[in-house]
Amino acid sequence: VVSVGILALQGAFAEHGASLNRLDLNNRKLNVVFVRTPDDLSLCDALIIPGGESTTIALLARLAGLSEPLKEFTRTKPVWGTCAGAILLSQSVVGAKKGGQELLGGMSIKIARNGWGSQVESFEVPLELNGIKESTRPFQAFFIRAPVVLELSSLHDESPITVVARIPLNLLPPSLIEENMTENDPRTVVALRQGRHLLTTFHPELTEDDRFHEYFVQCCVLTQ
Ligand code: GLN
Repeated sequence: VVSVGILALQGAFAEHGASLNRLDLNNRKLNVVFVRTPDDLSLCDALIIPGGESTTIALLARLAGLSEPLKEFTRTKPVWGTCAGAILLSQSVVGAKKGGQELLGGMSIKIARNGWGSQVESFEVPLELNGIKESTRPFQAFFIRAPVVLELSSLHDESPITVVARIPLNLLPPSLIEENMTENDPRTVVALRQGRHLLTTFHPELTEDDRFHEYFVQCCVLTQ
């Protein structure tokens, strides 16, 4: 049995639970743990940090005594951050609220909060995938006040970064488009993997397409 935790302080944690419970892992049993305390976390082999509000999640984690345990967990076990969770998994953030934003780190990227605009500028895009099952079938991705990746910079002693999905340049919101931007611009990166961590700036748990959940469990949690 493998236990995958979902940080359940705020945000879309129930939806991640539903996606995990739909997975078919060829007779491997998967146990879903909603994590609200350090004791819950200690039961987990891996963790998903959902979308929601990164500042609120960090504050509630501190109040629950989870800040340090989460940092330690991130150093040693697979973690997947979606949207707000992606912010928490980053090494540095631009646009944090006054007073700063507590981060867990774990992935050597720099990210901008709310980089695609406000809630009303939320959008939906079919993404092409790289290295994920049935990658020729596009993945319908929902971006809701999503963060934008600004820099990817793995140092020589860190695991390399693999880009799992990009938004095509012509689908970027006009406010982000700049002259001379290339298709390899970090701002087009919306899903990436580093070591056993996964980051998506959109919300795979809001669809019935569970390929990212399966990828996380199969490739980040069960292998190695
Ligand atoms: N904008 C939110 C934040 O900064 C993230 C939004 C989301 O998770 N959908 O935390």
